[in-house]
Amino acid sequence: TAHPASHFIRTIVETDLAAGKFATRRWRGTPGAAAEQATAPLDTARLRTRFPPEPNGYLHFGHAKSICLNFGLAEQFGGRCHLRFDDTNPAKEDQEYVDSIIDAVRWLGFSWEQGDETNLYHASDYFAWMLAFAEHLIVTGHAYVDSQSADEIRAGRGTLTQPGVDSPFRTRSREENLDLFRRMQAGEFADGTHVLRAKIDMASPNINLRDPLIYRIRHATHHRSGDRYCVYPLYTFAHPIEDALENITHSICTLEFEDQRPFYDWLLERLAETTTLADGRSVGGLLQRPLPQQIEFSRLNLTYVVLSKRKLIQLVEEGHVDGWDDPRLPTLVGARRRGYAPEGFRLFAERIGVSKSDSLIDFALLEDCQREVMNESAERRIAVLDPLKLVITNYPEGQREECSAPNHPQQPELGTRSVPFGRELWIEREDFMEVPSKGYRRLFPGNMARLRYAYVVRCTGCEKDADGNVTAVLCEYLPETKSGTPGADSVKVKGNLHWVSAADGFAAEVRLYDRLFAVPAPGARREGDAEGLERSFLDDLNPNSRQTITAQLEPALRDAPAEARFQFERHGYFVADRVDSRPGAPVFNRAVTLKDSWSK
Ligand code: ATP
Ligand code: MG
Ligand code: MG
Repeated sequence: TAHPASHFIRTIVETDLAAGKFATRRWRGTPGAAAEQATAPLDTARLRTRFPPEPNGYLHFGHAKSICLNFGLAEQFGGRCHLRFDDTNPAKEDQEYVDSIIDAVRWLGFSWEQGDETNLYHASDYFAWMLAFAEHLIVTGHAYVDSQSADEIRAGRGTLTQPGVDSPFRTRSREENLDLFRRMQAGEFADGTHVLRAKIDMASPNINLRDPLIYRIRHATHHRSGDRYCVYPLYTFAHPIEDALENITHSICTLEFEDQRPFYDWLLERLAETTTLADGRSVGGLLQRPLPQQIEFSRLNLTYVVLSKRKLIQLVEEGHVDGWDDPRLPTLVGARRRGYAPEGFRLFAERIGVSKSDSLIDFALLEDCQREVMNESAERRIAVLDPLKLVITNYPEGQREECSAPNHPQQPELGTRSVPFGRELWIEREDFMEVPSKGYRRLFPGNMARLRYAYVVRCTGCEKDADGNVTAVLCEYLPETKSGTPGADSVKVKGNLHWVSAADGFAAEVRLYDRLFAVPAPGARREGDAEGLERSFLDDLNPNSRQTITAQLEPALRDAPAEARFQFERHGYFVADRVDSRPGAPVFNRAVTLKDSWSK
């Protein structure tokens, strides 16, 4: 494979590795504080990234960008990428989501298992560490229990133009803070009565540094730790600690966390440094250096889809789609069912690159990557999507012969298969016109065309029903013109049609999926919209995003295993649906057409 184009995060990693920045870190395979790690072996990975989803929903195309970036860097530089469930919030998290995330990352082709390391972690396993670290902040004078109401705390925080004001509880003694925090942990207080805050600077121009909350009381059952805890850390406190405990070197996240970076650094510094207390005791050194560094990149935005969790939930819950794995949804389970190839996502991630500027990527680019990957990997098969009978009147009734079709025109090593040919065939309805339009080269009375891999036929007429609809096309074949024989080129024709033997093919359900939304920016105001008009993204659903048809397929498709992908010649790339296919009776989904029909 070609050497990937570089981007600023790759450059940072390369520079850090060249400088040996993380070469002295020690690793014991399980998280531990610096003191315990003094005798642990050196961490030979040197690059450690992580993908840290919160298990509160299904992964979408935006997550794929982050997965490819984090796991891809680890792959490229011989590092490790951890899969970490960021499950510090007891509400909304669920095992169902954990399982689907594991499936999706594996499906994309990445692994968190390397050698003797299985780097799958749960942030909730660090709750004891986090509490100990919070108490350390209290002891060293960097945290306090605030007993104001949520509203008071919010009001006291100030605004962009106005500094915050100190909480009346900011000057509590260490002893009182420690006592209160322990009683918070013991369950003595109701939700919302006290919080633990970092003590930084209420006048900081960065509002995130105005004594951010780090713990709150939540009497809630956590999906893993159960009722063991009734205080839970806030994400901004938990995340840097998770990174540090796991020896993460480069903590890559999306741009909205840029303003949190000073707190990330502040916190890890407070835990790593050593402090001499009033009684002369020296404490600290809880984390080893160098500390992980946070690096932000811009998130993926795509035209013709919505990636916001709230909107995805609405689409599923209101029944606009058939569930989280609906092939039209931009979820990874949806993409998988639709027939998108994981390699297509990896190519896409490489193509869009990584930067700090907000960008809106055209959905057509993702489709192009899918086409490119499947054009290489997918075997060709024949399907007639809108079948019309064709009768070869000079071909003996009951006779059958085999034609040879290549499985891949550019890859002869994939071999050929035989396709049965007989007197009655299915062709596409659009491949016949009784009265041809200008330039039409396919079948019309008097014209000749090639039945691909078989013979040249001359159209002699058609049959119609009482309403004048064409029910069959009549032809005569030219016996000396069979493909692959010396006479194949003896007659030159312009049209080249695909077909399926009526006696040998089989009817199957095929779903023609298209984009879920009809406009690039669903729900956005458009030129000419009346003042004050509120458009909902639901108004922009594409009414033709799914069409279910009965197609005629060549017999070789009958045993297509679920998830096998094919190019149906002249139509596009299709997959055997992994849910509805039955042995001997596959159902196919169209992943993407052969050509882009959306760009103007
Ligand atoms: P929410 O915060 O609403 O739960 P989320 O999309 O941020 O949604 P996480 O589970 O926190 O969900 O995301 C896991 C990782 O995926 C994070 O590191 C996040 O930055 C990254 N990520 C999420 N959305 C995108 C996106 N559109 N583009 C790139 N990365 C993304
Ligand atoms: Mg998420
Ligand atoms: Mg998030």
